Amino acid sequence: MPYTEDRNTWYEGQGIWKDTPKSDWEDWTWQLRNRITSLEQLEPLIDLTEGEMKGCQHANKKLAMAITPYFFNLIDRDDPDCPIRKQVIPRAGEMIASAEEMLDPVGEDAHSPVPGLVHRYPDRVLFLVTDRCAAYCRYCTRSRLVSNAQDYNFHPEFEQGLKYIETHPEVRDVLLSGGDPLLLSDNKLDYLLGRLRQIPHVEFIRIGSRIPVFMPQRITEELCEIFRKHGPVWMSIHANHPKECTAELKAACERLAFAGVPLGNQSVLLNGINDDADVMKALIHRLLRMRVRPYYIYQCDLITGSAHLRASVCKGLEIMKKLRGHTTGYAVPQYVIDAPGGGGKVPINPQYITKIDDEAIHFRNFEGKLFRYPLKSFTIDDECRCHEQEIEC
Ligand SMILES: *Cc1c(COP(=O)(O)O)cnc(C)c1O
Repeated sequence: MPYTEDRNTWYEGQGIWKDTPKSDWEDWTWQLRNRITSLEQLEPLIDLTEGEMKGCQHANKKLAMAITPYFFNLIDRDDPDCPIRKQVIPRAGEMIASAEEMLDPVGEDAHSPVPGLVHRYPDRVLFLVTDRCAAYCRYCTRSRLVSNAQDYNFHPEFEQGLKYIETHPEVRDVLLSGGDPLLLSDNKLDYLLGRLRQIPHVEFIRIGSRIPVFMPQRITEELCEIFRKHGPVWMSIHANHPKECTAELKAACERLAFAGVPLGNQSVLLNGINDDADVMKALIHRLLRMRVRPYYIYQCDLITGSAHLRASVCKGLEIMKKLRGHTTGYAVPQYVIDAPGGGGKVPINPQYITKIDDEAIHFRNFEGKLFRYPLKSFTIDDECRCHEQEIEC
């Protein structure tokens, strides 16, 4: 079985940082200071393809490159198709903009009542608290503002955002994102969470962060203490491939879980990285073992320069068919498309209903066997009485 061992990445045979004291390696500020951010730094470490070189030269005009030593260590440097490599090393495909692509693919700017706050759904807001990340995913949906390579000049407006939430009693759920909120100092996070907790109508607080995956060293006892103090704070991490599920990530998730932070995972379906049922299954099983509940699989947003990374919806549906019923229900995430232009997240499911008529709902199970549940004793409205179309992928 591939990917079943919890690898501890400390050196991991790569040798690049072998002279680094373990205390430095385990210090998140060391990881940040020693990120690989330029072609000059990258070239001596790995044999780059021509496409990667072009991609690196272009990156500073689109979305900066940054890779933590910890995450770089997960790359199989002999494999140009390494699933870790493709997520963080820019490629020439980023320079190609296709007609369907957009700079703000899910229309966030149009739903921003104040800068840095997106209010799309009735009861919850997305609060962008920074434009920086520990490392940059090459398919980033917010590459227009994240890393400021495109001169977007994003300035997090904490007070304006907090004031908006305070004066909108319908907001019961606040999602902190960015950029990566865990790049903020402990003091800032303590302040922000404290302010949010003081708002009586805010009953649910969560953080979207890839830092546990890019830099698990950031999950310190001091940080966990802040979550304990202001909890419950929920967290969605972002792992795409079982190779990311290291012993270090597992330990970080354990620290978070023991501090009372319920954990979910959001993956993006990526071409040649995780658009495969076996890879996805290995990932979600590893996540459960780390106390992380797979939450969403996103169809990759139509961000400019992402065609080479986007996987097909049919692949996504096929993967979902191979998960539901075939493995633990807790392990099965919801596959969604964030509607282009700004309609929110929409569930995309394999077709289980074959027909609804006056008599019954007809459906198939995970093995393809047909079943019916009688509806005779219920009122059936027109919307329900649909005859679902067969979808062939
Ligand atoms: C994803 C998202 C949320 C949270 O959606 P859930 O389905 O509740 O996880 C909220 N606001 C915006 C703008 C989002 O993109």
